[in-house]
Amino acid sequence: MKLIFELGTDGQGTDLLPECDVPKADPGPFARSSAVRLPQVSEVELSRHYAALARRAHGVSDGFYPLGSCTMKYSPKINEELASMREFTGIHPLQPEDSVQGCLEVLARCETMLCEITGMDSMSFQPAAGAHGEFTGLLLIRAYHKSRGDEQRRKIIVPDSAHGTNPASAAMAGYEVVNLPSGPDGCVDLDALKQAADEKTAGLMLTNPNTVGLFDRNILDITKIIHDAGGLCYYDGANMNAIMGIARPGDMGFDIVHLNLHKTFSTPHGGGGPGSGPVGCKASLSRFLPGFLPNPCGSRYSLKRPPNSIGDVKAFYGNFLVVLKAYAYLLELGKEGIPEAARNAVLNANYMMSLLKGHFQAAYDRPCMHEFVITLEQEKKTSGISAADIAKALLDHGIHPPTMYFPLIVQEALMIEPTETEPRETLEEAAKVMNQILDEAQKEPSTIHLQPLHTPVRRLDEVAAARRPIVCYEYPQE
Ligand SMILES: *Cc1c(COP(=O)(O)O)cnc(C)c1O
Repeated sequence: MKLIFELGTDGQGTDLLPECDVPKADPGPFARSSAVRLPQVSEVELSRHYAALARRAHGVSDGFYPLGSCTMKYSPKINEELASMREFTGIHPLQPEDSVQGCLEVLARCETMLCEITGMDSMSFQPAAGAHGEFTGLLLIRAYHKSRGDEQRRKIIVPDSAHGTNPASAAMAGYEVVNLPSGPDGCVDLDALKQAADEKTAGLMLTNPNTVGLFDRNILDITKIIHDAGGLCYYDGANMNAIMGIARPGDMGFDIVHLNLHKTFSTPHGGGGPGSGPVGCKASLSRFLPGFLPNPCGSRYSLKRPPNSIGDVKAFYGNFLVVLKAYAYLLELGKEGIPEAARNAVLNANYMMSLLKGHFQAAYDRPCMHEFVITLEQEKKTSGISAADIAKALLDHGIHPPTMYFPLIVQEALMIEPTETEPRETLEEAAKVMNQILDEAQKEPSTIHLQPLHTPVRRLDEVAAARRPIVCYEYPQE
């Protein structure tokens, strides 16, 4: 497929509108020295180009997308419709508070509901993504210790099963990362945690259920060990899909939480579009939250900056329309629907795991939460069939591969998260396809290494794509 830069010819364009009659502003010293070179394509070429690109992408509307830890569930279209209402899209963040009372009410009510779900007392919607929320949460931890004159706490404990963003965020916030090895059951090793927690510990970052899809039964002991050492507990709530409406991080002993509204709460993601990673905290930390929080006074709302706020981590109120979609979703599902969605997410994952058993080996053979991990470690040793082979072969069947080679504590891992929005038939079909792929590969191992056979591109150099991405187009020299 050609790039847009390789299409069209000079002089072709889409200028249906008359020449602008507003005088051009003088950019002064910022003027570019030569005209920008843009593709010269007609409108129909442009339209076809993007339609062709869209056909090559795989989204939830194209097929099954069991990308573990990413919660690629279907997000109801009605929420998109609500978020595109002019009343919400046509406002400006600098408008007088009086004229945006409805929007402030949405923020305030959504905050209340998500605090109820997480067991937190207040929440800021400024962070724009999960990792951004983590970074914000770490700044809260720092502000807390600083306010107590306890600045020798330089360490953040992160289990080796954590999402890669956790240690990265801790390092970005200036902390030293202490890597905590998991026990053989995939959960936190309490003795190792006791060893690691001391007067230098600023906090712990944890997700529960963890990245192998297991709920850590020792969670109350874990948070107590950290609190006893004087640290704070941060909950990575990117994956609330298994526990929303059922178990609350606040009750598990966590002090700070981020959520991924673009995973659990109805904003589709994967294309880099706007997300939201709100950060909630216990009342003792509320005064440090970033941005402005909507404060109810009588029947009105006004925006107030928390007294010891860490400042801003993003402009204004974050991605408001994403919050709006979450609010609509919460209202649609309601108090009964939210835990029901979580139960179905867990049921679907366990059902799919049971359909794969007998062919694939579960990394941890016990009931899972919203996702599970299978390992091809043995298979790789005996027949050379790797996790990547299975993932690539799935592409020919219109199925997006599961997350591969993550978490790092499982060799040849495939991490499968079916989500609650998939019908039973899809799970059965996908499991059948996976089992067949493995059966056929075991009979004739050489064939699987060639797959996929029917995709526009086949096996790519993924290391080069990650290490040396080419993101700028160079026009050929004339
Ligand atoms: C997705 C995810 C994140 C990061 O979220 P982004 O919005 O991609 O920054 C962090 N932790 C876990 C467990 C996740 O699954």
